[in-house]
Amino acid sequence: MRVTDLGIRAIHYQYYAQFRAGAMSTSIPSSSAPLPSPERTAELYTALNEIRARVAVTVASNSPPPGRRPTLVAVSKYKPAADLRACYDAGQRDFGENYAQELVEKAAVLPRDVRWHFIGTVQSNKAKVLAGIENLYAVQTLSSTKVADALNRHRAAEHAPLRVFIQLNTSGEQTKGGIDISPSPPPLPPPPSSITGEGAKELAQLAMHVVRRCPRLRLVGLMTIGKPGGGEEDFGGLREARDRLVRVLPPDEDVWGEDADAEFDVDLGGGKGQGGGGEGEGEGANTLGRRLLLSMGMSHDFEMALRGGADVVRVGTGIFGARPPKKGDARAEQP
Ligand SMILES: *Cc1c(COP(=O)(O)O)cnc(C)c1O
Repeated sequence: MRVTDLGIRAIHYQYYAQFRAGAMSTSIPSSSAPLPSPERTAELYTALNEIRARVAVTVASNSPPPGRRPTLVAVSKYKPAADLRACYDAGQRDFGENYAQELVEKAAVLPRDVRWHFIGTVQSNKAKVLAGIENLYAVQTLSSTKVADALNRHRAAEHAPLRVFIQLNTSGEQTKGGIDISPSPPPLPPPPSSITGEGAKELAQLAMHVVRRCPRLRLVGLMTIGKPGGGEEDFGGLREARDRLVRVLPPDEDVWGEDADAEFDVDLGGGKGQGGGGEGEGEGANTLGRRLLLSMGMSHDFEMALRGGADVVRVGTGIFGARPPKKGDARAEQP
């Protein structure tokens, strides 16, 4: 049966050629992640929609400036790609991950328009892996010039500049990463400028380093993890630090702050909301309207964070359910 053999060969060849073409083009197929079971899908839709509704209700009672709506980042660490796919199909685009390798694996099987947020401890030796993920949207946990330099060095010129949030430790808990700006130790020297305290100075230095020395990065905000009981004071501390920092950054240069076309908004029910905004009014903006965002609030305190002015909330268990405990987690999240 030569003909059949040839036919099969031809088909194989065709597939092989397609496979090669696919592998060589820069675009990743839309989604090769499987879908979860119908039960799990329903569970995820219910949880995601409940969180979205709670965000919307809280934001509505806040009366934020028009056009400004917070971003809900679905924190999907340890969860299978199928779970993310279900949320993606429900319109979710922002996902947060704590481990570089896990992020790489998921980014390879999920659609290209996912906006990945790295929210774990960044190790310098992982900077190359992270910066190489084209649709890595933001690193929310920057706290050293060393890591800033590594990300800047590895972020290819053909990729969009990488958004960074500087992580602050607002509660002084030893287990947490970030620049310590907790007020607990007595402020030693008198305020050197409009900024007070050692941590605040370190923050200003790192921010200026990113703005001046890291053209492949863009400083867009500050991030904190609140205290386990609820982070009201932490959120106030982050807001204050942001408002002080905005005053020392170069006011008229388009090298920091939320980009004009950013769509930092919650996607309520599939469609794209009206993003951008922030035309000069409101907290955290300088007189020219350049803004730094606040990433704060998790499953147990995101509503409090929204009332405190959060632009980005990071919700994991509230959407995906409980996670198995894993090694090395204490630094990045609460028990
Ligand atoms: C895990 C994690 C979250 C999500 O926490 P949940 O309590 O599950 O909502 C948010 N932010 C960071 C930095 C995390 O590590």
